[in-house]
Amino acid sequence: MSIIKNKKVLVTGGAGFIGSNIIGKLLTQNNEVVCLDNFATGKRENIANYLTNSSFKLIEGDIRDLLVCREATKDIDIVLHQAALGSVPRSVNDPLTSNAVNVGGFLNVLVAARDAGVKRIVYAASSSTYGDNEQLPKVEDHIGQPLSPYAVTKYVNELYASVFARVYGMELIGLRYFNVFGPRQDPDGAYAAVIPLFVKSLINGVPPKINGDGSFSRDFTYVANVVQANERAATVHTKEAINTVYNVACGSRVSLNELVASIKELLTEYQPEVSAIIPEYGPERVGDVPHSLASIEKAKTLLGYCPSHQFHDGLKEAIGWYRDFFIMRD
Ligand code: NAD
Repeated sequence: MSIIKNKKVLVTGGAGFIGSNIIGKLLTQNNEVVCLDNFATGKRENIANYLTNSSFKLIEGDIRDLLVCREATKDIDIVLHQAALGSVPRSVNDPLTSNAVNVGGFLNVLVAARDAGVKRIVYAASSSTYGDNEQLPKVEDHIGQPLSPYAVTKYVNELYASVFARVYGMELIGLRYFNVFGPRQDPDGAYAAVIPLFVKSLINGVPPKINGDGSFSRDFTYVANVVQANERAATVHTKEAINTVYNVACGSRVSLNELVASIKELLTEYQPEVSAIIPEYGPERVGDVPHSLASIEKAKTLLGYCPSHQFHDGLKEAIGWYRDFFIMRD
């Protein structure tokens, strides 16, 4: 198993959902971790347990500030870049800020990493880059036109990564995440993702609201699989595996109706009344693609990636976490 150990690693966006899960793993493997985050969407409680660890350092700052990026990349071996403003609807409402953070911020991280001599940068790309290409499963080389400002920003990241590899000889790997879920994913706010939203509704006895008729499907990916992909991308040495992008997913798809049914089934064990809740259906959302399913063959072949959690295994763990989270909070 390829793991990151005895390294100095910068995790941008480390107070967020995915970043904080990555840091948790890194700190068990004798790494020094620097977390750069401005808490735009990240949470202090996500990193609260790490603050007392002498191998952990928090830099509270913004990736739009090049000087902050320079401070954060000093003496770093590996950058795992997660900082961004996620959410398609957020980018539709405010494309300027999404662009400034996701493109301008990314460019700052690249420039700072280049000047600091960082060996490897792994960055969060996105399945949204497939845009209007309806081919299933999604294969890395076949993308379509972007359907949202967010998708543009994530594609521009890939373009910059490719140029920095060619022009400055850097090692960059992009990971196109597909609908990640798991512990610490924020269930609150206007831009919450679908799994935490549905779990929160059902735990509170409220019908979940489905955009569309529930037939839209996603390749929901448990966060432990994403952590694994980051580690493999950060440690791979074969030349053909570097300076490219990979789908990071489970390789199977679940419709929103199936998702609600699975959450209900798991929650009914604790709250029998959940079984009677019927979802409500509303209009489709602007910028949403109907179906998403990844081919994970490239990551399997070149990175040795192998999802440790299928959808149901992950959902079970996530629901256990949300139950504790809501009980402690309420
Ligand atoms: P998140 O919102 O929980 O984490 C993002 C983190 O970046 C937050 O802690 C936030 O405070 C930080 N951040 C935002 N703007 C910043 C700035 N200007 N300076 C410094 N820090 C900043 O989201 P996440 O789900 O953990 O996503 C992590 C990465 O994965 C993002 O790049 C996202 O686009 C990408 N991604 C996520 C998914 C998913 O399903 N969650 C899918 C595809 C891609």
